[in-house]
This record gives sequence, C-alpha cells and structure tokens, in this order.
Amino acid sequence: MGKEIFQKEVDALEQARSALEQAHGLEKGVEQAFRTLVSRYAKLVRQSGRMVTMGDRMQNSLNQLNSELAASESKYRGVFENVTEGIYRCAPDGRLIEINPSMAAMFGFDGIRSFLGDVMNIKELFCTLDDYERYESLLMTDGVQRQEVQACGPDGRTIWVEISASLIKGEADEPGTIVGVLADVTERKKMLEDMCRLARTDSLTGLWNRGYFMELSLREVTRSLRNGSDLSLLILDVDYFKSVNDTYGHDVGDQALISIANTVRDSVREVDIVGRYGGEEFVVLLPDAAVGAAAAVADRITGNIRSRVFDCGNVKLSITASIGLTSFEQGDDLDSLLKYADIALYAAKKKGRDRSEIYRRETGDCVTCPTSRKREHTVGERQ
Ligand code: GH3
Ligand code: MG
Ligand code: MG
Repeated sequence: MGKEIFQKEVDALEQARSALEQAHGLEKGVEQAFRTLVSRYAKLVRQSGRMVTMGDRMQNSLNQLNSELAASESKYRGVFENVTEGIYRCAPDGRLIEINPSMAAMFGFDGIRSFLGDVMNIKELFCTLDDYERYESLLMTDGVQRQEVQACGPDGRTIWVEISASLIKGEADEPGTIVGVLADVTERKKMLEDMCRLARTDSLTGLWNRGYFMELSLREVTRSLRNGSDLSLLILDVDYFKSVNDTYGHDVGDQALISIANTVRDSVREVDIVGRYGGEEFVVLLPDAAVGAAAAVADRITGNIRSRVFDCGNVKLSITASIGLTSFEQGDDLDSLLKYADIALYAAKKKGRDRSEIYRRETGDCVTCPTSRKREHTVGERQ
C-alpha cells in the first residue's frame, strides 16, 4: 500500500536519477548537491513507506481486536438475554438501570419495558424492609451478599429468590454499580419444607413424630429451667388396643388410631405440643400449665375419648385411654419428666384404666385426677 501512495514521489525520483545520468557538464558542486538531494529524498520516501506499512498493520490489529470484542460482547449479551436467572444492574441506592428478560418474566411481566415502568428500585421487590436492609448493609460493608428472601412483584405474586449481588466500585469518585442475579427457588423451598414436615410428622396420624416431639419439648423444658415457667407432660396409652386389632383387623386399628389422635389434638390448646410417642401411645406437652390445669386437660382427653363413637368403616367402636401426668419442677429434665409420666401411666393401668393419674414427687406414688371416673362400658363394638 505504501508504494502505491508514494508512486508519484517514486516516479519523480526515477526522473531525477535519469536526468542526473544524462546531464553532462554540470558544475561539480551543483551535481553533488543534486545527488545528495536525490538520495535524501529517496530515503525519506522509503521511511514514509515503512511508516505507512506499520500504520496499516496497526490498523489491522485494531480491526481484529474490535471484531473479537464485538464477538465477546455479543456472546455475553446472549447469556444476559437467554439465561434463566434474572439479572439486574442498579445504582448503589437501588435505582434500576438494566434488567434481563428472565427477571421481567420471573415477576409476571411480558417484557423489560413494562417491568421497568412499574419497578423503579430493587428495594420494591423485597417483601420485608429487614431483608432489604440486610442486603444493602452487606453490599456496602463486604461488597457482596447472598441470601434467600421472599420477593413480591407488583402484580402481588410472592416468590422465594436466592439473590446474589456484588458492588462494582466506580473510578475515583464515581458511585459504582450493583450487579445482581436472582434465581427463583420457590419450588426448591417448597420441596424442602415438605421434606422437613415429612421428617417431623408421623405418617399415620399427622401428629409430630417422637423425634420432633422431643426436639420441641426440649426447648420448652429449657425455657422452664431458665424462667421457672409452669410445664406439664402427659402420656396417653389406649386401653386394650391389641384386642381392637385382634378383633377387627389392623386397618380398623389404624383408622381408630387416626381418630384418637384427632380427638387428643382437638382436646388441647393450639400451643400444646402433641406427638405420637409410638404404637398406640401419645404424648402431650403443656407449656405454662401447672398440675391443676394439666389434670383438667388429661380428664378432658379421657372424657372425650370415652364419650366418642369411633366410626371405623363398618364398625363403630367404644375406646378408652389411660393417662399418666407429671408437672415440671426445678431440676427436672425431659427424661425425668417422661419417666414420672410413665410411672403415673402404669398406675392408671393398674388402677383399672380409663383414668388419669398424677405422679407425686414427695411420696413417689400416684394420685388420681379429680375428675377421672371409671368407665362404664368396655372397649369394643358400640351397639
Ligand atoms: P393396655 O390397656 O395394657 O395398653 O393394652 P394394649 O392391648 O393396648 O397394650 P399392648 O401394648 O399389649 O398393645 C398395643 C397394641 O397396639 C399392639 C399393637 O398391635 C398395636 N399397635 C401399635 N402400633 C399400631 C399401629 O400403627 N396400627 C395398629 N393398627 N396397631 C398398632
Ligand atoms: Mg402401649
Ligand atoms: Mg395400650
């Protein structure tokens, strides 16, 4: 290219050189000066040619860099446009600058424009101010934050999102920007909650299973130890339940257990913790209930079971239950409470069943709850 640009200069040099060859009788000094001029001019043309070639090469490299940059930009733009996670860019005060289509779709919008027309600030998506303040303070102190929060869209829909955001600092005194990624984890959250619930509940009766009952009860015992609050525990065992299975079959037995569990649950307060301790044994922990109140609850449960007709498919059953009860005293732990309630339950069985017995610390024996009464009918089919 260099040569083409300087073609006229090259031609002029050629002419000058041939004129020199043909010139005769020139004065020595003039000829020498002319030769020097031609050679310097030739050098100048060569250097200019090399500079132009260098410039061309630089331009080519620049073009190549530009096209690589454009390709990589379009690659990242493609990711931004098509990734399933929502991506946003906002100012440090939360004002939204840019979002991707997935973010709009996540909140039920059909496009970026309608989303940004409705939501000006990322803060508006946080369901609670606490969550936003934690997000903001982590970003400002650590420069990054990651948390699961409930997000509410302007259409009222609430979803769980995992939000990961970073603060990208600006040059000098520029404020910088925040880039965040939102993943919709509603399904995952729901599945985890279902799994947790399943791991905690008894599959037949839907009551808390033994493990979770113990976990919840431990918290209550710790609370009573700390602040001396009242607490009572009762264990219920169905009377002669084996005969229900033996006479009517295991399925009828199962149905009866479900109904007994419901009766127990319906006989206590919302705050009381009801669990299936095993087989046909149930446990109830009564927070803030001293022995008198707990005895009344125990008698209410045995009374409700006694008076109910248990409709188990083709058979209607009369069932009774026995309860052992104890109340918390300083120095108790969950194991000792369970042990005392079990002693009282044993006493209730021994004294004829269908009753509630209270364990007495002072004497180590048991006393019958005031309103307990002996059942009038036997466990079995109701006429
Ligand atoms: P008691 O009055 O002394 O408590 O007599 P009981 O027959 O209730 O006591 P026992 O411990 O001898 O029998 C309990 C029965 O509970 C034995 C078992 O077949 C039955 N059982 C335990 N778990 C289940 C269950 O999940 N389903 C059914 N249908 N029966 C169960
Ligand atoms: Mg039993
Ligand atoms: Mg039993």
